[in-house]
Amino acid sequence: MLKTECLIIGAGAVGLITAVELRRRGFGVAMLERGEAGQEASWAGGGILFPLLPWDYPEPVTTLAMAGVNQYPALVETLLADTGIDPELRRSGMLVLPPFDALAAASWCRNHALGQETCRGRRFVPELAKNEDALWLPGVFQARNPRLLQALRRWLERHGVTIVSSAPVEQLEVKNNRLESVATPQGRFSADRIVVTAGAWSKELLGEHALKLDIRPIRGQMLLFKGAPGRLEPVLMKNGTYLVPRADGHILVGSTLEDTGFDKRTTAAARDKLYAEAVKLLPFLQDTPMLKHWAGLRPGSPGNIPTIDRHPAIDNLYVNSGHFRYGVTMAPASAHLLADLLEGRTPALDATPYRWPT
Ligand SMILES: Cc1cc2nc3c(=O)[nH]c(=O)nc-3n(C[C@H](O)[C@H](O)[C@H](O)COP(=O)(O)OP(=O)(O)OC[C@H]3O[C@@H](n4cnc5c(N)ncnc54)[C@H](O)[C@@H]3O)c2cc1C
Repeated sequence: MLKTECLIIGAGAVGLITAVELRRRGFGVAMLERGEAGQEASWAGGGILFPLLPWDYPEPVTTLAMAGVNQYPALVETLLADTGIDPELRRSGMLVLPPFDALAAASWCRNHALGQETCRGRRFVPELAKNEDALWLPGVFQARNPRLLQALRRWLERHGVTIVSSAPVEQLEVKNNRLESVATPQGRFSADRIVVTAGAWSKELLGEHALKLDIRPIRGQMLLFKGAPGRLEPVLMKNGTYLVPRADGHILVGSTLEDTGFDKRTTAAARDKLYAEAVKLLPFLQDTPMLKHWAGLRPGSPGNIPTIDRHPAIDNLYVNSGHFRYGVTMAPASAHLLADLLEGRTPALDATPYRWPT
């Protein structure tokens, strides 16, 4: 049986960034991953580092999201310097088209020191079909999430963290309020502390020990167009549809929110809807090749508030999961909070909203 100080189960953005944080604090860390690291929701997402309309969410969502965003520049600098992989962190800004609650938006931006400006949409996106009144948020960042995941993986390998692939955790052995070991087809693993970061699968993995943890898969489908650099500069958002331009001209279009269980298939209906909405906003996409269509399973949670806590009855078991629509954004702050709790330090953030529901 392999033994380590900290064992992390699930190698998506949340697990990988938690591993980085714990390793930097001096812990010996190993990870178990059902498939390959960074191939699930964290790969499938858009990489916008911002809650889409934050004023529509409870405050604990924006607290964690904004704390996460603030940590990205330093994290990406470290990853780039140590691995040579560039996660393409960019402050591309976001243009929000109506409908949106202008008063709530202005007040939220003031309270969170985020610049905002009302403008005509074509000022920032000249190719818009309609020149509507819009809200310009220049401070919004994005990252190229698949590259971020590659960089995290390489950083961990270089810093002595083993990621065991094809190692689904299938059983938990709990004795005397301790998680003694976990069983995978590759053998049993034990650790002083075990952290579950298995995204949409966290509740199923924990079984009876999940207690009232409320995390379930919510499918999101995305399209990818092969645009030319410069045709769209900021992230564009209207009515729940968003377009994310990458530096090389690729444009992602997302997304659906579907309660279809653990079903990751794509559908023609979602593809047609996303395509129609994207073309209605930016007619040039009609003449732009569509390269890909995929789906991912978000770890859905009530109010979009993740659980970051120690288990109420199992002393060495922790969870960091349920980040729903904003896990990439929240991951650095979420990892920081989890590591503070694991070390018994007073957390920099108030941990109350993220407690294990009992
Ligand atoms: C279409 C779409 C668009 C999105 N856009 C954005 C965005 O723009 N910005 C943003 O911040 N967020 C976005 N998100 C949300 C974000 O992707 C998720 O919140 C985030 O990826 C959750 O990270 P995670 O590490 O918890 O989950 P995952 O990335 O799903 O990782 C969980 C890992 O656990 C592993 N695992 C599961 N069960 C087991 C087991 N039994 N044993 C071992 N390993 C196991 C899985 O294989 C997986 O690798 C989007 C999501 C989708 C689907």
